[in-house]
Amino acid sequence: MPIRRPLIAGNWKMNGRLADGAWVEHFRGALTASGTDILVCPPATLLHHFATLLPGDAIALGGQDCSPEPDGAHTGDISAGMLKDVGCSHVIVGHSERRDGHGESSELVRRKAGAALREGLVPIICIGEQLEDREAGRAIETVLAQLAGSVPEAGADELVIAYEPVWAIGTGRSAGPEEAQEMHAAIRAAWPGDDREGLRILYGGSVKPENAQALLACPDIDGALVGGASLDPHVFARLVNLSS
Ligand code: PEP
Repeated sequence: MPIRRPLIAGNWKMNGRLADGAWVEHFRGALTASGTDILVCPPATLLHHFATLLPGDAIALGGQDCSPEPDGAHTGDISAGMLKDVGCSHVIVGHSERRDGHGESSELVRRKAGAALREGLVPIICIGEQLEDREAGRAIETVLAQLAGSVPEAGADELVIAYEPVWAIGTGRSAGPEEAQEMHAAIRAAWPGDDREGLRILYGGSVKPENAQALLACPDIDGALVGGASLDPHVFARLVNLSS
């Protein structure tokens, strides 16, 4: 029995329409695994629709981001409470597409994670280095600084970390298992919470069936955050099946 149950999470990013609800049926039809936690994070516009398709199912629903604020005058933002209200149990915060594309700092990510925890959601905090950091030999230092800045003090042991090297996201170039394992072990060793051995650390960055097995076999890799490959229900189901 592994200490940590694997989690395979799909991040649909800004993809999907109401007509894509059929994804759920295709995905369930292709699933054979039972020892893995499964999470789907479609865009906010589809959360309610997906919540109606997944009632009582073993597939959890998550948001892709949340506001650090509880409610109020924040046009365009979505609070953690709203995500909870629509049926989410998880929320991704600090994805590199938000850190880089929207200028989000680790301090903001920490506040977002805190807001999620206060609403009873599990935040998945994303951290990862740029290619220049890796090439300059400072990947671990960079990622551990993001970790220290992004994790709220209260409730640290309730959350999930996703290590996503930015150079591997959407590029087709995944980190190798040794590279990823080295980083995951460093994150676990530096974990500020009490339950270091219970912490789930996902790998993200061009995960697909061809590279997933070797990554998921690493002792400190507890699952995957999957972007592009989660859009195809059969491919995503293969990833879940081979993680169990
Ligand atoms: C992601 O968006 O978190 C991600 C890892 O994307 P991809 O799997 O497409 O690289």
